[in-house]
Amino acid sequence: MMIYQKIYEPTIKSNITVIRDDLYPFLGGGNKGRKLDSIGQEILEQSYKAVVTTGGIQSNHCRATAVFCAQNNLKCTLILHGDKEKFYQESGNAKIMRMSGAEIIFVNQPVEIGPAMDQAMQNYQRIGINAYYLWGGGHNCQGGKAYIDAINQLDKQLAVDYLFVACGTGSTQAGIMAGLSQNNIDCKVIGISVARNQQSAQEHVSTFYNMLCDTFSIQRKHEVIVLDEYLCGGYEKYNNELKKISDNSIQNYGFTLDTTYSGKAFWGMQEHVLKHNLQGNIVFWHTGGIFNFLA
Ligand SMILES: *Cc1c(COP(=O)(O)O)cnc(C)c1O
Repeated sequence: MMIYQKIYEPTIKSNITVIRDDLYPFLGGGNKGRKLDSIGQEILEQSYKAVVTTGGIQSNHCRATAVFCAQNNLKCTLILHGDKEKFYQESGNAKIMRMSGAEIIFVNQPVEIGPAMDQAMQNYQRIGINAYYLWGGGHNCQGGKAYIDAINQLDKQLAVDYLFVACGTGSTQAGIMAGLSQNNIDCKVIGISVARNQQSAQEHVSTFYNMLCDTFSIQRKHEVIVLDEYLCGGYEKYNNELKKISDNSIQNYGFTLDTTYSGKAFWGMQEHVLKHNLQGNIVFWHTGGIFNFLA
């Protein structure tokens, strides 16, 4: 399922095609909805009865996982990090997680996540429940495959010279690149990092791209490009310019651009196209974030 929207972008005086994965119709949408749909197939095929995963208090991934488990009558344990009090007050993903029936376990420090996940896995094992261990962000092969599948469904008429996408764990970008390579679609894929510096982000995307290409016998054709100039200091950080793009997003385009993911990528795209005077067909892959926008 692919939804397209053409917009005119005045800052760069050109039309852009937006792939509206924020409207992906399952599990609350966004790239985490798309990933979980694919990961979910594996979970159901292999008859797991529970899922253990992790994320922050507004994690789109944990929301999609919790909704998947609710829909399929599986047990779900979410190891969350962040402000516990906020989690019980905020709307958006936090509210959906609270109401999903998932078991919620808070840890104070990121180093406690691994041990807490292991503990949750052991607890399920002890009562004879086969649990699926899911990395934060849905960062596994089956999650990346969701994007190879998405590119296979891409409108063959869509002209694309530059494709921009938010880059967190990098599996969305790597999956898109693997799908484009498989389909011999020659274009530049430019990730806008939402958390990591350029070197680290590019390493993560490369590793995952290589893994997907090896797994699915795809010949690598794309250069790994991730920009870190639009980080605003790191994950969930933003500046006035980015805030303004987010605040005006519905009025200007009719969709939401949150400051953590899609807005950051959109702003990075605008700046990068301007700075390098890029000419050609631009595609923006909207990865979602409606619920953290509404938090
Ligand atoms: C997680 C997330 C991303 C980053 O995706 P990765 O595959 O981890 O790089 C981008 N946008 C939104 C809305 C997300 O929730």
